[in-house]
Amino acid sequence: MKDLELNELLRKLPAVHELVEEMSGGSGTPATILMACRNVLENERAGILEGKKPETSEKLQEKVLIELDRITSSSMKNVINATGVILHTALGRACMPEGAVEAVSRIASGYSVLQWDCETGRRGHRDIHTERLICELAGSEAATIANNNAGATLLVLSALASGREVIVSRGQLVEIGGSFRIPDVMKQSGARMREVGCTNRTHLRDYRSAINENTAIILRVHPSNYRIRGFTGEVPLEQLVELGEEFGIPVVDDLGAGSYIDLSNFGLPSEPTVQSSIEAGAAVVTSSGDKLIGGPQAGIITGSREYIQKIKKHPLARALRVGKLTIAALEASLMLFRESIDYITANHPLYRMFAADVAELRSMAEQFLTLLILPDSCSASILETDSYVGSGSLPDYAIPSAGVGLGSPDNEVLARKLRLGNPAVASRIEDGLIKLDMRTLQPGEMDMLASLVNSALQELWE
Ligand SMILES: *Cc1c(COP(=O)(O)O)cnc(C)c1O
Repeated sequence: MKDLELNELLRKLPAVHELVEEMSGGSGTPATILMACRNVLENERAGILEGKKPETSEKLQEKVLIELDRITSSSMKNVINATGVILHTALGRACMPEGAVEAVSRIASGYSVLQWDCETGRRGHRDIHTERLICELAGSEAATIANNNAGATLLVLSALASGREVIVSRGQLVEIGGSFRIPDVMKQSGARMREVGCTNRTHLRDYRSAINENTAIILRVHPSNYRIRGFTGEVPLEQLVELGEEFGIPVVDDLGAGSYIDLSNFGLPSEPTVQSSIEAGAAVVTSSGDKLIGGPQAGIITGSREYIQKIKKHPLARALRVGKLTIAALEASLMLFRESIDYITANHPLYRMFAADVAELRSMAEQFLTLLILPDSCSASILETDSYVGSGSLPDYAIPSAGVGLGSPDNEVLARKLRLGNPAVASRIEDGLIKLDMRTLQPGEMDMLASLVNSALQELWE
């Protein structure tokens, strides 16, 4: 096509303000309508230059509406988690209890006593809202909160061991997802790492012979996401504490998941609890807010007053502090752990998912199956499957579960279509099937999941 004809076509396009005028009756703010019109016209111009036929004015308006929807919808889409991974880091880890959700919404919209001492009218400390509760649950003297447990570990090492040595077993030099590695955090904190023992076995005498006048801390790290099997041995926390006491060295325990109740109540293997570490004599225990507490992202640091005071005063504490929404959600989440197992199961989504039994999940799967409308080329059946706790807790423990297996001409294409929906659907592809685990569905999500699956199947293969 000649330049002259192209110019003619380009000139026929409406001006931005004309298109904006045409769109102004509908939804959208002035700024987003303008942006959508600009984007569509720019695209149209590029298309014409590539030799495409110009769109009709109706078609342009339609495109503006689609563009408007694209630029105004939240990037933080909801996800229906059908993976069976209960604490899924990519999907935001914990589903918070109702009390936490209410607390966040109550505090978000107005002012609060975050750092205000009502008695004196002076500035107080934001830790008071969670400190007493953590101490009550853990049996500890003092507590503070950091942005997450990675931050908590960095803060504790910086405050207590910068420029000095930290003794740690070679069997505990863990890498958590997202490049959090104990040796790197150690370096960042300014502490020198003094590795002892071997990958599979570390003895008390290894710790003892590493102690010198420069030793600041004995660190124990929970090997969250891996297991060492066979000829293995670690020194129990009690013995590390005893050794530390002999030399006046505090033991810091990085628990990771940091549960407040024994998971054996839910038929799962036990994970160490925060109170058991405190009871064993750890000077400082660090753990996550959004792993087995099932609350907001946070790092909980608790232990003896002397060390917690030092940690609170470190400059990094200010840099890693949490906001009011986190404090409100954490306080409400922690409150649940005063209650009975039955109460927690009924009121905490995380523990409801742990407690759900296979028969119950199987009957959900049967119900789900009746909602599906399958094209001839697709199939669906009830499956026995495995759920996982996720986020580095009980990494090799499969929780028996039930779900539905979808067969289709191309499972990768189907899984992508489901991911791109709104809400997005997260599933597992295994054994030539798309597996939808019923355990991680939230109450009321089943109909929506069925309708998303049905429309994806229909669009792709009907
Ligand atoms: C998960 C984990 C961390 C990191 O916690 P985040 O809250 O994810 O930052 C640190 N240490 C251990 C042992 C962990 O399991």
